[in-house]
Amino acid sequence: MNTTGYRKEHAVRPIVIAGNWKMHKDLDGSRSLIEGIKTQVAFPLGTTKVIVCPPFTSLSVARELLEGSPIALGAQNMSDQDEGAFTGEISAAMLKSAGCSYVIVGHSERRQYFQETDAFINRKARKALATGLTPIICVGETLEQREKGVTEQIVSTQVTGVLADFSKGEVPALIVAYEPVWAIGTGKSATPAQAQEVHALIRSLVKKTFGDDAASGLVIQYGGSVKPENAEELLSQPDIDGALVGGACLKPDSFAAIIKAGAGEKT
Ligand code: PEP
Repeated sequence: MNTTGYRKEHAVRPIVIAGNWKMHKDLDGSRSLIEGIKTQVAFPLGTTKVIVCPPFTSLSVARELLEGSPIALGAQNMSDQDEGAFTGEISAAMLKSAGCSYVIVGHSERRQYFQETDAFINRKARKALATGLTPIICVGETLEQREKGVTEQIVSTQVTGVLADFSKGEVPALIVAYEPVWAIGTGKSATPAQAQEVHALIRSLVKKTFGDDAASGLVIQYGGSVKPENAEELLSQPDIDGALVGGACLKPDSFAAIIKAGAGEKT
């Protein structure tokens, strides 16, 4: 970052900090986490956007508490179907009516535990966008793949698959999150240089397929053990436009510190 705390890329793309609560927080816990974030973060934050993604059961309480706040609401998953006999599923339209503007699709835990494929994630992402939700589309290699030296190949295949059939005009309305699986929940983040290398690869792929405007307008978040101590350095990389935060978003002070790092404030 420069001395004002803002990167020149901010003129083109906002910094977007999203908290993925995963399967944490009941209603009381959700209330106190949102109240805590609202207390600790001084808004407005310039071009920095903040999103919280609580479990489905807390969306409505979160929506009430976020009324009038610039913090946006997101969900952690959705169905690729509009409606019907799909027990346990939640549609994009339901999320929209519950107050969501964002939805995470293709998180590595969904890929790992629920066998989600790039084609399935792409269907969800297209449904999300068509319904007026911004999909946060996750990609990233496993430790084994990184150690085998196939990170570029894996991430390229994922990006091509999850972005299939989007038009070049739609791409800047999406968010891609690069989340190396080996860095998620492990405390071991990618180095800023490792993350930047893959973000630049993703942007160059998008440029090749969708053109300059799509590539320069696409927000690419980094996720994987982002914490207050590493947020500023990660977010100062030219192709890192935000963070998808797991563990550190569950405490108001650490999430607030990451948000402040995104906004260029000293923590
Ligand atoms: C995540 O779940 O998307 C994530 C990045 O988790 P953590 O920050 O805990 O690594």
